[in-house]
Amino acid sequence: MNGYHGAGANGATGPSQGDWTPSYKAAVQKSLAKLNHLPPIVTPTEIWRLRASLRDVALGKAFLLQGGDCAELFDYCEAAAIDSKIKLLLQMSLVLIWGANKPVVRIARMAGQYAKPRSSPTETVNGKTIPSFRGDILNGYPEDERDIDPERLVQAYFHSAATLNYVRAQLSSGFADLHRPLNWNLGHVQDAELQAKYSKIVESIAESLRFMKTVGADTAGQLQTVDLFTSHEGLLLEYETALTRELHHPANRFSTSVEASRPASLFADADADAAEQTGYYNTSAHFLWVGDRTRQPTHAHIEYFRGIENPIGIKVGPTTSCEDLCQLLDIVNPNKEIGKVTLITRYGAGRVEELLPAHIKAVRQSGHIVVWQCDPMHGNTRSTSTGVKTRSFASVLSELSTALQVHKREGSILGGMHLELTGDAVTECTGGSEGLQDEDLSLRYETFCDPRLNEKQALEIAFLVAQSQRG
Ligand code: PEP
Ligand code: MN
Repeated sequence: MNGYHGAGANGATGPSQGDWTPSYKAAVQKSLAKLNHLPPIVTPTEIWRLRASLRDVALGKAFLLQGGDCAELFDYCEAAAIDSKIKLLLQMSLVLIWGANKPVVRIARMAGQYAKPRSSPTETVNGKTIPSFRGDILNGYPEDERDIDPERLVQAYFHSAATLNYVRAQLSSGFADLHRPLNWNLGHVQDAELQAKYSKIVESIAESLRFMKTVGADTAGQLQTVDLFTSHEGLLLEYETALTRELHHPANRFSTSVEASRPASLFADADADAAEQTGYYNTSAHFLWVGDRTRQPTHAHIEYFRGIENPIGIKVGPTTSCEDLCQLLDIVNPNKEIGKVTLITRYGAGRVEELLPAHIKAVRQSGHIVVWQCDPMHGNTRSTSTGVKTRSFASVLSELSTALQVHKREGSILGGMHLELTGDAVTECTGGSEGLQDEDLSLRYETFCDPRLNEKQALEIAFLVAQSQRG
């Protein structure tokens, strides 16, 4: 039985270095006790709904869109910022449905994406060395807020809950109602040919929606609302552990293992051990992923991740060996449940051809059926001549389309994409239809961590991926 093993001794990402004052330790304990006491933010039923959807993605029956900020701030817990992000994810998913001719599973990097791994514990700002910003869950971005504040752990919970509450309320109030005309704002596309191409896609989507409305194809109300799941990097094990609960599995759970596909009721036979009726659920988000810096098979994060029922992601990069990859899959998913694990590949545009085929072959040989998701952001970060961290639209698109081609060629399936994006008109990545240059980045460079695609660039990625899926 794949039990829950808590945060091991290697949780070096948290405030666990042992050099803290007793009052600090007491404050951490107080916050963790509070988190332990608070109700789940998400439920096993929702978590299993996502697991079922990701099984479809792994089998090529659906496409996965995951996106949101690199570092979500508590400040983003505000109506307009949340609205623009969910509107963008919904529009992108419509375009992708049109392109892939399949349902799209939506997961937001939102309502909890507050912890950031950093390459250095300190940074130099205006000649002064200060602790690095580690995400709102630990410290604040302003220079005078860089000390870790344990009360922020509890604040993270409340900001997650408030964000998800607003998302749920908006969705159940018709925010995603496809009978409402959508504003696609294509005016920025400078190239006339491209503008015509995108307008044609939009018109085709609008036409289909009108047709469904006319024939009354929405009797079940499916065009009025959608599922939007939440996710974050499971980095701070103290926080994740405090929100992990032993809970009853939902009645409609089913086996998704490669070998068996029995209905849920068969799990509840008379001999079943009581422990089989329950599992450990991370109730802070539907989906969690382990980052590229913390995915070592013998370290604490994998020890934690192997114990939870949630679908999980593992970042896969240029330093991931085929042996490690297969070992990781066996550890976190010994029953080989289809789609339980999403492999989030992030090699850099120039290295996909060299690295992805061997990973695909190794995973196939291992017998695991995973969701292959391309993160075209984290291998494509560069610095401008003035030292601004950016990514170019062209390399993001290139990593995506190369991944798509390699999967096709290898007889595998690219199941989804993982993007850092925002619904606002920021200028953090170069390129795209507006033709943003390095010099333009200072206009609205607002990220507190990695550069994000703005609304137009993100939508354009959806158009281009959809188009290439259509062949
Ligand atoms: C991230 O997704 O923001 C991140 C830090 O990615 P990675 O772990 O792949 O570097
Ligand atoms: Mn990032």
